[in-house]
Amino acid sequence: MQWLRRISLVLAQVFALSAAFWLGPSAATEQQQEATAHEAQAWRDLQQLAADAMAGRATGSAGSLLAQQYLQKRFAALGLQPLGSNYLQPFSFHEGFSERHGVNVLGLRRGCGQPERYVVVTAHYDHLKPRGKKIFNGADDNASGVAGLLYLAAQTQQSCPLYSYLFLATDAEELGLDGAKAFIAKPPVALDAIVLNINLDMISRGESNQRLYLAGKKQLPQLTQFAEKVQTPLKLTLAHDGRQSSLGRRSQPPVDWSNASDHAVFRKAGIPFLYFGVDVHPQYHTPQDDWQRIDPQYFFAALRLIEQSRRWLESLPPQTLARSQKSSTN
Ligand SMILES: [Zn+2]
Repeated sequence: MQWLRRISLVLAQVFALSAAFWLGPSAATEQQQEATAHEAQAWRDLQQLAADAMAGRATGSAGSLLAQQYLQKRFAALGLQPLGSNYLQPFSFHEGFSERHGVNVLGLRRGCGQPERYVVVTAHYDHLKPRGKKIFNGADDNASGVAGLLYLAAQTQQSCPLYSYLFLATDAEELGLDGAKAFIAKPPVALDAIVLNINLDMISRGESNQRLYLAGKKQLPQLTQFAEKVQTPLKLTLAHDGRQSSLGRRSQPPVDWSNASDHAVFRKAGIPFLYFGVDVHPQYHTPQDDWQRIDPQYFFAALRLIEQSRRWLESLPPQTLARSQKSSTN
């Protein structure tokens, strides 16, 4: 029996080797092709949202309507479920003494492990209205974050996530975080069931130092370990909560990272958050914030890093997020 066992071992090895040869690389290539396809799609999404046709996607504008239509098509293609009859969540808010209307775009991916707990991924799709003939395309701010949101939705389509995910493209962020406020004021699920907010706002312009900021460690101290261990070509910097000087440039006004974007509304509701964003750059809120100025390689690296953080969060013991939630409400 010894020789028979040896032959079968040798045969098994030969089979394993040829399987590795035939299946291994092709499976790896397939995965790589899929990853590259997701990145290419994100790049197309960014370009579409930052196109002149959408004219900056200002709240209430024709360009905003085009952006909503585009997002609805993409949400449907990604298999996200609407929470009502469609993905649109209209709301009203006040700007000074006048009442205004905005529209959030919301879709659900039901989780497979703990579907009764929700992660809300936010990115604002609105930007600024044209001034005269000058269009503010807002490619980095925040077509990039919305493309990132769609990228994460694609990842959760590929493998079912632990938690349920609400993908929320907010409106009227530029006017005062009004889309996020409307969502929190009338949440589609109980606020207690929301364990985390991942907010993406300006994720494509790392500039010469390739830096990307990550805020949220006050509510989620484990972020320090993630930032230390994560493999990325980018310079991931944990932004301190509270008032901080921007990149140490004294001439810049201080940036309050914890209030900088939609995640502030979640933070105030006692929900821990991860906020990814770059520093203020010279084209910030100018007509020159165009996709042509973005280095796609930086953007893709940021997408991969954000997806890594999402997977890392899902690998944490579930009570971690619940504990953060309780401690942050104190
Ligand atoms: Zn923004």
